[in-house]
Amino acid sequence: MAHSLFLDCRHYRLSFRHSFGIAHGIRHHTDTVYVRASFHGQHGYGEAALPPYLGYDAVELVRSFHDFFDPVLEDSAAIRKVMTRLSSPGNHLPRPLRTAVDIALHDLLGKLMGTTVRKILNLPEASYSPCSFTLGISTVGEMMDRLTDAQQNGFFKVKLGGPDDRARIEALQAADPRPFCVDANQAFQSEDEALEWMHWLRERGCLFIEQPLPVDMAGSYNRLFDRSPLPVFLDESVQDLNDLPGLSKVCHGINVKLVKCGGIEPARALIREAHRYGLQVLVGCMSESACGAMAAAQLSGWANAVDLDGPILISNDPFSGAVYSDGQLLLSNEPGTGAKLMNDDLFDGQPLTQD
Ligand code: MG
Repeated sequence: MAHSLFLDCRHYRLSFRHSFGIAHGIRHHTDTVYVRASFHGQHGYGEAALPPYLGYDAVELVRSFHDFFDPVLEDSAAIRKVMTRLSSPGNHLPRPLRTAVDIALHDLLGKLMGTTVRKILNLPEASYSPCSFTLGISTVGEMMDRLTDAQQNGFFKVKLGGPDDRARIEALQAADPRPFCVDANQAFQSEDEALEWMHWLRERGCLFIEQPLPVDMAGSYNRLFDRSPLPVFLDESVQDLNDLPGLSKVCHGINVKLVKCGGIEPARALIREAHRYGLQVLVGCMSESACGAMAAAQLSGWANAVDLDGPILISNDPFSGAVYSDGQLLLSNEPGTGAKLMNDDLFDGQPLTQD
């Protein structure tokens, strides 16, 4: 058994510290799946958070995990073989499982080699990569209460789509001098509505706007881009490499998330290609724990900014390691991603799900 690779997968429910409002509704929790990859007594961990719009059932994903992976792979080349399988076309792996396994294997490799994931992949160290703090849709009063959680973040990301958006932005600017961007999450229904907002935002120094128009209005993106007074980043419209051709004519940058493209390795390829197209890159996450956020942070040396505040927004993170300081999410020099499992019950005990 000395060369066996053990794979396990569990479901967990992350609770928001405060209810989280975006243009599509209010959430109190996010389901997530964790994968543990074990070899030679070392454990690597990966995560794929599942906001409802992705359309996955976490329990069903966990159930199907062992249809795709044997729990024990007794082969000295098992890690390489699983990694190769993740990237092989037509593998039919659900994207979240691919993501969580990819992250877990990278974390495991780092621990086995005694080095960070970014060193293994020859990724640059971040010089300065400011990290956002997300302000969900809320009242002005609720938003002001949440600013106390944001003391170590470099800029704000204000979610649009609520009744008090302009009042919230004005109150934020009156209370805090740090820069802000906005994420419309597809809230605008026309170019004119988006443009009117974007001119108002530009006057207030907004850094950029994310996903102003719905995904199914892609035919309007180029006209908005031509008239845009603000840099436009796309998020929901960009899942992976297949979406990149032509994007440099309709946006200034993209939000790269591991769970959208399938893990660290596909994200690295996506960013490299995005740079070739002259696009800026925001490295983001879903509402996820330190496990996923610290994995994404390995790519921050290639990012113009990072949107990795998930661990601050949740109250029951089973992992530690996400440290925010001086406007940034600090990269860990611990082997692997730097995320540490704090709750042994996650894989070895009961219950697996916490409400
Ligand atoms: Mg977004």
